Parts: sequence; C-alpha cells; structure tokens
Amino acid sequence: MIDLDAVEFPLICPNCEFYNPVTIKQARLGDVLICRGCKANLQCVDALGQLANARSAIQKRFAELAELFHKPIRLTLKL
Ligand SMILES: [Zn+2]
Repeated sequence: MIDLDAVEFPLICPNCEFYNPVTIKQARLGDVLICRGCKANLQCVDALGQLANARSAIQKRFAELAELFHKPIRLTLKL
C-alpha cells in the first residue's frame, strides 16, 4: 500500500503567496507550519473535508488496482 501521508503538495501562504510544501499527513492533522517566505504561522484546516475525501477516494482506487494484480495473468511466451 502506498503511503499517501508522505505525498507533498504546495500550500500557498495567504500573506506573502510563497509556495510552502506540506504533506498530506501534516494537512490532515492540522499541523501548524512556518511560512518559508514571511515566517507567519500557517495552520492547515480541512474544513470541508476535501482532503479527507480525496485521500479516501485515492486509497479506494489503489485497493482496486492491487486487487487486479492478485488475479492470475496469462501470458504467451514467444521464442
Ligand atoms: Zn508567507
């Protein structure tokens, strides 16, 4: 299973518009980050649950993909 929590995406500071990398785990847990541009404290809040919903959808798709690879695959070998 792929660890989605380690995936990074850019978080744009509302104060200085600097792109700060944040992991899904940091955003999911509401971590407070220090902006690399203006040093302001940025707290990730997934108020609408969009991040949680996207994470669930991706995990479901990965589970479906993994299930496909558990089925036997018939290959023809050519010499
Ligand atoms: Zn900033």
